[in-house]
Amino acid sequence: MQTYQHYNATSIQEAQYYLEHYSGRARIIAGGTDLLGKMKDEISPLYPDALINIKSIPGLDGITEDEGGLGIGALVRLEDIAHDERIRGNFSALAQAAHSTASPHLREMGTIGGNICQDIRCWYYRKPKNRFPCLRKGGGRCYATEGDNRYHSIFGANIKEGCLAVHPSDTAPALIALDAMVQTSKRTIPIEDFFNVEVERTTVLEPDEIVLELRIPKQPKETKSAFIKFAKRKSIDFPIVNCAARITLAGDRIAAARICLNAVWVTPKRVVKAEEALVGKTLNKESAGEAGRAAIEDAMPVRYNRYMVQVAKALVERSVLACRPC
Ligand SMILES: Cc1cc2nc3c(=O)[nH]c(=O)nc-3n(C[C@H](O)[C@H](O)[C@H](O)COP(=O)(O)OP(=O)(O)OC[C@H]3O[C@@H](n4cnc5c(N)ncnc54)[C@H](O)[C@@H]3O)c2cc1C
Ligand code: SF4
Repeated sequence: MQTYQHYNATSIQEAQYYLEHYSGRARIIAGGTDLLGKMKDEISPLYPDALINIKSIPGLDGITEDEGGLGIGALVRLEDIAHDERIRGNFSALAQAAHSTASPHLREMGTIGGNICQDIRCWYYRKPKNRFPCLRKGGGRCYATEGDNRYHSIFGANIKEGCLAVHPSDTAPALIALDAMVQTSKRTIPIEDFFNVEVERTTVLEPDEIVLELRIPKQPKETKSAFIKFAKRKSIDFPIVNCAARITLAGDRIAAARICLNAVWVTPKRVVKAEEALVGKTLNKESAGEAGRAAIEDAMPVRYNRYMVQVAKALVERSVLACRPC
């Protein structure tokens, strides 16, 4: 590891001061489970000059509930989300997503803010010491395009640059299905607009902007949500594909649906066609199957990841069925 400065910020203003002072050369550190690994492996072309610890700022690690819904501080650890009775009861997709992330140790350290701000996963990008100087590192090519792309995008490359990396967060699709808002030190952003398709950064956050809280609106009556993850191992494994669904019923018909896949594209991917296929239908195997088929209509797999298309289809189907009333 190279040397860097470390600051324990005691307020949001102080953290922002350091971020501005270092003009893009400082990084926020929360649990450090993603960031420190990157620094040890020296995979970022620009090594940070300073880390700004925000765990020393009081008030960012609480879960609050009011009539509008739930507020989850950016520093709430994934293990606490997985076990919170309010989240398990009314926002099940998020509790299930948090519970499926990494391992118990990592969930005890990793925060929800860090989970949505984590960097993309691509084994060329993550190879230590920048062995593959790809597009994301200012190089001229994407090694995954012609290389081993078995865990890469099944919905094409990101808009103009041609990167096939995927977004690995487990909690992000659940937050999108639940229609969450991200409160930062500067603004409020619908979580769906929070992720960035360009290669420079994975979120729309400005260099001196800090995530403070996730707000999830109270869910309509007769609403249920669910999250399902497909990975090689049951623990300490990133998703190969994951999916969160939220279904609202009106009598025996589906009144509204929100479905989001992740690990299939450069940002979490809301599958609107699948949602549309469900509205007005009865929630059963047939309608869930239709949603699964609609979800993959636009899929464009590459050489080694065709299997992921079938996985995505099955996960949409199963997560929709998991929203059936008990
Ligand atoms: C072995 C292993 C397995 C893993 N498995 C999974 C998995 O299955 N699913 C999954 O989703 N993730 C997984 N992860 C990734 C990671 O551990 C988690 O995403 C974790 O939640 C990151 O949170 P953190 O607090 O440790 O983030 P950090 O490492 O502290 O930060 C990550 C990034 O977010 C930025 N950041 C953090 N907090 C804020 C904030 N409040 N405002 C603005 N920027 C912020 C940091 O600057 C940094 O760039 C795994 C990691 C490892 C090492
Ligand atoms: S997929 Fe993206 S991160 Fe991976 S090698 Fe290609 S450009 Fe780099």
